[in-house]
Amino acid sequence: MGHLDWSRVMSNGRRRRRVAVLGSTGSIGRQTLDVIRWFPDRFEIVGLAAGRYSDLFHAQVEEFRPALVAVGDGTTRGPRLPDGVLTGADGVATVATAADADVVVVAASGGAGLVPTLAAVARGKVVALANKEALVMAGGLVTEMARKSGARILPIDSEHSAIWQCLQGEGELTQWRSRVRSLILTASGGALRDLPLDQLDHVTPEQVLAHPTWQMGPKVTVDSATLMNKGLEVMEASWLFGLPLDRIKLLLHRASIVHSMVEFVDGTIKAQLGVPDMRVPIQYALSYPERLEGRAEPLDLAKAGPLVFEEIDLERYPCLRLALESARLGRSYPAALSSANETAVRLFLEGEISFGKIPVLVEKVMSSHHPVDVESLQVVLEVDRWARETCLALARDM
Ligand code: MG
Repeated sequence: MGHLDWSRVMSNGRRRRRVAVLGSTGSIGRQTLDVIRWFPDRFEIVGLAAGRYSDLFHAQVEEFRPALVAVGDGTTRGPRLPDGVLTGADGVATVATAADADVVVVAASGGAGLVPTLAAVARGKVVALANKEALVMAGGLVTEMARKSGARILPIDSEHSAIWQCLQGEGELTQWRSRVRSLILTASGGALRDLPLDQLDHVTPEQVLAHPTWQMGPKVTVDSATLMNKGLEVMEASWLFGLPLDRIKLLLHRASIVHSMVEFVDGTIKAQLGVPDMRVPIQYALSYPERLEGRAEPLDLAKAGPLVFEEIDLERYPCLRLALESARLGRSYPAALSSANETAVRLFLEGEISFGKIPVLVEKVMSSHHPVDVESLQVVLEVDRWARETCLALARDM
């Protein structure tokens, strides 16, 4: 996997770096545009894509006036589509592969990020990836395609950005892989980390969405409360950094100050620290290999208090256990897990099922899954459709 070869990524003199953002109205997309606003002399927006044409998207298009604008669904209600707005999967793919984009930020959440990520990677783009489902569902396809096309994948997920930063100066992939003993991902534990186990089943979406440290979209915030998110991140890290699952460790770290660590073979551990603000890893991916004067709140270590790390209790987090099992099983299990989870999380947010039913549904889908090799996009999309339908059918029978 040569796709994280940081030496080759972009240096274009004084010209502004041109950025396309897929999923610009979501949490990561909006924070990406914040970073662009901070540095108008360094970045410009050349493409924007969103799920649908909302008032917010309209305002973003008016503000940044990109050459390419697309919505995945052009049929839903909202402001009238202006002329020239591309629609559907093809329209979004056009933005994802924009010829003049130096960086394509994939900020779409969930399985919706898969097809545009593959499109950008196939075109050999520099992809700043916030979406983790694309690698979870089709990591082999994405990394193989990146190897062929010369695409570069730069992580935005805070843990993976931290690891990437800890690996700076450790040489090329072939060198640092033999220097690294393990990657250590930290987890905040989410909104329900201190709730007694017997109360977990009946928490409300409002309780779950009140994340103690991070500002994120609803899907990833629910995944943080179940720790499904951390299971997906283990798979994401394995694909991004080319290390086997048994060299990726997890620690509970409530303060979200240490964003992740790398343990080297000589016993040294490097950590990356900062305030929990997604705009910091977004800015690093956009400015790499430079660092720009930060606009986010600086970290005051004397005020941050003790940095405490704890083991994670798998009994409290059955979704994490299921994700790690699916990672070990491999083949299409991670794709089935991811799509079942996304469906179950949506049902929970819509008030259709209780919080405790999320792992129950995911486990039932997993146990009825007939695994296949993920050898093409069509195979993944078929597993995705099957897992969503099976999850919905199981939910109706509960
Ligand atoms: Mg993360």
